[in-house]
Amino acid sequence: MDIAKRVQTLTPSTTLAITAKANELKQNGFDVIGLGAGEPDFNTPNYIIDAAIKAMEAGKTKYTPTGGIQELKLAIIEKLKRDNNLSYKSDEIIVTSGAKHALYTLFQALLNEGDEVIVPVPYWVSYPEQIKLAGGTPIYVPGLEENEFKISPKQLEDVITHKTKAIIINSPSNPTGMMYTKDELEALGEICIKHNILIVSDEIYEKLIYSEDRHISIAGLSSDLKEITIVINGVSKSHAMTGWRIGYAAGPSAIIKAMTNLASHSTSNPTSIAQYAALAAYQAEVDPTIEMRKVFAERLDALYDLIIKVPGITCQKPKGAFYLFPNVANAAKMNGFKNVDDWASALLDEERVAVVPGSGFGAPDFIRLSYAISKEQLEEAASRIHRFVEKHL
Ligand code: PLP
Repeated sequence: MDIAKRVQTLTPSTTLAITAKANELKQNGFDVIGLGAGEPDFNTPNYIIDAAIKAMEAGKTKYTPTGGIQELKLAIIEKLKRDNNLSYKSDEIIVTSGAKHALYTLFQALLNEGDEVIVPVPYWVSYPEQIKLAGGTPIYVPGLEENEFKISPKQLEDVITHKTKAIIINSPSNPTGMMYTKDELEALGEICIKHNILIVSDEIYEKLIYSEDRHISIAGLSSDLKEITIVINGVSKSHAMTGWRIGYAAGPSAIIKAMTNLASHSTSNPTSIAQYAALAAYQAEVDPTIEMRKVFAERLDALYDLIIKVPGITCQKPKGAFYLFPNVANAAKMNGFKNVDDWASALLDEERVAVVPGSGFGAPDFIRLSYAISKEQLEEAASRIHRFVEKHL
């Protein structure tokens, strides 16, 4: 039986592929250090787990409204007001099965065949595939290393055509950890208002910031910007809840309604129990990210200091998320490899360190290193990378 063309052309997630290869080596007894993880290594806080157990015991195990239980929508509205100075009504919110599913549903609801979506590079692996699955065309704009991988207003203006429907802004970014400033967002936003382009603002890493900079939601900068922005967020990274699959989108009610109609024929609703868990997460007085941030910041400093000492490797210090995105093109060249993919593959074979090649993020000179593992393991990984590079000089 033939598989549909739309799936045949999908690029499998590089992050998952490298994790699978590393796991296979581990299962065969090899001492592999995986720097591919895309999730916090912390457990979901107990008060959230308790809320899920209580929900099950209270019989909250049935279908819920497609767009999410009203209590959770209200808690999300409260969170958006508190953290982002944004005011929404219930019909401007949809709860989804993770932020990834919010994005998937959004592109399905938004795009017609040939519509263009601007994707700054380096990008999170799923954006281009989700856009293509919805019949859209990703238009790549290079975020230059010397500009902290961010795109400029001129670069944006230069690629806008009559087919441009939306732009993705992911700040803090996966894979680079970089963040747009208020001024930069205002400048990009002005162009989007002028050309009536929808801004898809993926804010999933908003709580994981290690510099003095504050997270800024572009939707909160003016009412004109709010009208053309869909905010994407969720509890996966902020509350160490990746497996629970709860995310959301907030934006104009017509788009949210279309997304809800679509979801009614796909997921029906996000898992009822996980919704009650997310409700407890948003209603809690405690902020689990305070502790997570402290640990991540220490690891970032430790890994960064070691990585920049490796010959042929340069690295911008990220401000958020939990990834380092070093440029290893020179190291790969000095080591005699054709490209960074081959270099990374040899690193896994010889030194048992799994990193994600930047080619999957549209940036083939780079690798992504996740620091969602212990400091000791990070130090060992950095020392193995150093040894590998020196051995091949
Ligand atoms: N957006 C970005 C930039 C991500 O890195 C991820 C997860 O890795 C997601 C969205 C999806 O998050 P979720 O687990 O809520 O689907």
